[in-house]
Amino acid sequence: MDFEYSPKSLELQTRLKAFMDDHVIPRHAQFVAEAANGTHVISFMNDLKALAREEGLWNMFLPGLHDDEPGTGLSNLDYAPLAEIMGRLPWAPQVFNCSAPDTGNMEILHMFGTPEQKEQWLKPLLNGEIRSCFSMTEPDVASSDATNIETVIRRDGDDYVINGRKWFSTGAASPDCKIAIVMGKTDPDNPNRHEQQSMILVPLDSPGVTITRDIPVMNHHSYESHCEIAYRNVRVPASNLLGGAGQGFAIAQARLGPGRIHHCMRSIGQAELAYEMMVERSLERKTFGKYLHEHGMLQDKIARSRIEIEQARLLVLKAAWLIDRYGTKAARAEVAMIKVVVPQMQSDVIDRAIQTFGGMGVTPDTPLPDLWTMARSLRIADGPDEVHLQSIARMEVKKAKAGPRDSHRFFTLPDRAAEADIRPVAAE
Ligand SMILES: Cc1cc2nc3c(=O)[nH]c(=O)nc-3n(C[C@H](O)[C@H](O)[C@H](O)COP(=O)(O)OP(=O)(O)OC[C@H]3O[C@@H](n4cnc5c(N)ncnc54)[C@H](O)[C@@H]3O)c2cc1C
Repeated sequence: MDFEYSPKSLELQTRLKAFMDDHVIPRHAQFVAEAANGTHVISFMNDLKALAREEGLWNMFLPGLHDDEPGTGLSNLDYAPLAEIMGRLPWAPQVFNCSAPDTGNMEILHMFGTPEQKEQWLKPLLNGEIRSCFSMTEPDVASSDATNIETVIRRDGDDYVINGRKWFSTGAASPDCKIAIVMGKTDPDNPNRHEQQSMILVPLDSPGVTITRDIPVMNHHSYESHCEIAYRNVRVPASNLLGGAGQGFAIAQARLGPGRIHHCMRSIGQAELAYEMMVERSLERKTFGKYLHEHGMLQDKIARSRIEIEQARLLVLKAAWLIDRYGTKAARAEVAMIKVVVPQMQSDVIDRAIQTFGGMGVTPDTPLPDLWTMARSLRIADGPDEVHLQSIARMEVKKAKAGPRDSHRFFTLPDRAAEADIRPVAAE
């Protein structure tokens, strides 16, 4: 395995770091103040986006495998450090048109969209002129099992009519969010539960679409909205179906492969930021005659955090390398592993940083509460830990069943014949 970054990635890393230092980080305080008003309109965002685009720091997540495709031509491995640099501030990826859920949505439009769908929706998304949301999870069913989804997508002449209730459609409250990719059932009676669903493009200004709530996460609104949406008799042309009827489940899987990797890379950036804050704070504050970093318990936190970040990053790079070399399917186990490992590591490191900051760590005077909320949510969003653990265990058991099953060569089996020979000893 070779995790060496290409010269192109190294050059982009240098320019991206400089852009973050010069243009993004100095705006953080203003961003926090403006985001607090809940309108999801940030006065300087379009100017920053234009600047990033001008500097070629744009759509870096798209591999652009062929000449006629958009993107920077970076592999997942080369993109990983860039996502980490942008991800340090959860809102920063938007500046570079590299933020969730748009990246995942652009990827599936790119992979499954018709030329007309690409022209109408992918093009303005790639240009950063509009944003999008992904509407799969429903309040009324356990959505970590996507076969439970109940929203109805019914064919009616040249249209489809959509009825259902969704929640946690991230980003939908932004005035720039113009399109939802909605998952629902077109064929609820199909005996194959994985072929009942489809995805359909629903313009958010369609009659019958109502954003009923912008749901606070951990009781507060973060930089991004998470919306509850009612779809009541929403009528869209049949040509809005994404991919074929019954392909919804397969598209969801395709969306989450690279998408999960991108989340994890950004999460590592946030863990690094929390780690740096923790270490630097420990150099500045003294208790009981010593700097915090001179206390053994702080050293334990610092060392453990460094070890855990390095372990997590290596696993993410392995997953990226596998996808680049052998495709998403070959990296299924590793992608599931990082989805469990990284948000847990991120929560732990941020928690230690909060502890090191004392009371200040739980106030909005540091980004730590927001970072912790992101990390905690990620253990549920894009599939809860348990579902990924279940997939990993299933893959492992399948391998074990198919394998040579020769581990008994490494231990001594009890000799049953000898055991049978043991006579009960008569009591004296
Ligand atoms: C901040 C945030 C943003 C999100 N953004 C989006 C978005 O943009 N679009 C979207 O569609 N959804 C989004 N989601 C929703 C998210 O994907 C779902 O919450 C998640 O898939 C779990 O579904 P559920 O909430 O219905 O939980 P349920 O399916 O009800 O599961 C509840 C719990 O059951 C347990 N569980 C489930 N399966 C198993 C198992 N096999 N073994 C053991 N235990 C199990 C887990 O602990 C799980 O947390 C977001 C969620 C959050 C928190």
